[in-house]
Amino acid sequence: MSDLCVNHGEDDAPRALPSLRLCAGCRARLRKDIHDLGNLHNDLETVLAHGSSPRYGNRVSGSSSEPLPINPAVADHRDQIRHDLAWWVRYVAEERGLAGLPDNRVSEIAAWLGTHVDWIAAHPVAAVECPPVMRGLVGRARALVAPSGARRIAIGPCRGVVDDQACGGTLYATVRAEDDTRESEIYCDGTCGLSMEPSQWRRFGREYLRPQAS
Ligand SMILES: [Zn+2]
Ligand SMILES: [Zn+2]
Repeated sequence: MSDLCVNHGEDDAPRALPSLRLCAGCRARLRKDIHDLGNLHNDLETVLAHGSSPRYGNRVSGSSSEPLPINPAVADHRDQIRHDLAWWVRYVAEERGLAGLPDNRVSEIAAWLGTHVDWIAAHPVAAVECPPVMRGLVGRARALVAPSGARRIAIGPCRGVVDDQACGGTLYATVRAEDDTRESEIYCDGTCGLSMEPSQWRRFGREYLRPQAS
């Protein structure tokens, strides 16, 4: 059995954590993705509710010019998040012989699954299959949430290091619309799992912009 993380290409895989099949970065990322999906499912609901405004409306060609009351892509993705999280909950519960499953709320489902991240990270199949599913769901959810008046700005390459390897991701800032009460954030789309609130930006910006020793 290889002791390399199974969530990387063969050439650049860092070591997996002891007795796990994921490296520290991938385990942290998986935990964060599962946690974030609970929030993103809620965020998508606010985008869904805005579906009738001109900014968000979808027009159906050949029908009236009235936009649909909801954004079907958002509705579909919310279903997908619930479906995939519930699927993994059932999988983990069956494999582990667990009862006492979470109730139907997506935040509860995500929280339950989040407590089994180490089991997933140690499982030969789950460690391979689960992280990319969660990553994909988060990425698509962020892309759908962003058009709700938020702008996503690419800041530059991430300088984070995970297990002595460069993260290789890209840093983005979401800048919310003025009437949007959600926090803006800076996040990395790579494996380092970086995510910051506005109060942390100033210090981070100074360090990020400091000339790099070469
Ligand atoms: Zn990894
Ligand atoms: Zn990064």
